Amino acid sequence: MTDLGLPIIPPRRSLDLGSGLSFGAGHHFTVEPGIDLWDLARNATAPISVIKQVTKRCDFDCSFCSEIFQLPDPSLEQLEIMRNNLKGTRRIFLSGGEPLMRKDFGDIVDMYADEGFILAVPTNATHGLQHAKRIAGKIAFANIGLEGPRGITNRVRGDYDKVMPGVRALQDAGIPISLSAVVYRSTLGALPFTVQIADVLNAGKVKLIMPLRKGNALKLDENEFITDGEAADAFSRLTELRTTYQWNPAIRLTTWTEENEGHMIVVEPTGKTNAWPVYNAKDLFEPIGNLLEEPIQEIWKRYRFKENHFRKYLGASIRTAAHAGGGSA
Ligand code: SF4
Repeated sequence: MTDLGLPIIPPRRSLDLGSGLSFGAGHHFTVEPGIDLWDLARNATAPISVIKQVTKRCDFDCSFCSEIFQLPDPSLEQLEIMRNNLKGTRRIFLSGGEPLMRKDFGDIVDMYADEGFILAVPTNATHGLQHAKRIAGKIAFANIGLEGPRGITNRVRGDYDKVMPGVRALQDAGIPISLSAVVYRSTLGALPFTVQIADVLNAGKVKLIMPLRKGNALKLDENEFITDGEAADAFSRLTELRTTYQWNPAIRLTTWTEENEGHMIVVEPTGKTNAWPVYNAKDLFEPIGNLLEEPIQEIWKRYRFKENHFRKYLGASIRTAAHAGGGSA
């Protein structure tokens, strides 16, 4: 907060991370042209991005939710041990479940912000009002799950009219936002509205992802899973519309291919750390260690998807259109 009590809005400029990496206005990493991503991955001693689940609880029951299996919340003491073991990682997603369900979420943000991580918070925003002022100026962005218009969001996710007040509260506190939407065949027609909403909200990016076959998504109609070709067509149409309507947010679309296998590192509340999604693994999680027991550098050594990790987070294995305000991927 400023001396006048006004929220500090993190600047929309690129953050230089060294080794040719930066973190930019579209809320994603970029890399200087000509840098070999396999070299970067092979020489890295820690991941650039980790998803840390601070709870598995949630007040929604989205039709695609993969994380429906419940576990007790980690204590603040356990979260501190895991924070210490994450040193060397560039960005941490303080994730769920719904992370803002934790009444002590502000304490968690303080704890992780003190170590200088780039912090991002994936959230459905329904508890935004309770936490916005406390976490403002400490997180790089909140990534709001929203499938566009009310009729679509209500059908596939939760309650649009509970999400939007939370989004406004986060923005009123000065927290930058991005949107994340899961794409079904029945929601393809809503994608332009989703990007229009993102543009009106001044979002850094719109992340479009396909459902993974886990949790609630196992009950989805098979017809809702689109092919990679359909995803390519949808992305192409969106980028044309983006030019026509001069939308600002970056657009990033991820499909589940061999190139993206295992690219995420997810730390469960128990500290169990997994490569995700690994297509032939139980629950799509391939266990690679436990962050309560060892530092991320040790876990990284046995992680077999290093190149996929770097290629995905640097925009090389997904479809991307850069934020109109800058960013290369
Ligand atoms: S997808 Fe996210 S918001 Fe939806 S039920 Fe799962 S944890 Fe909650």
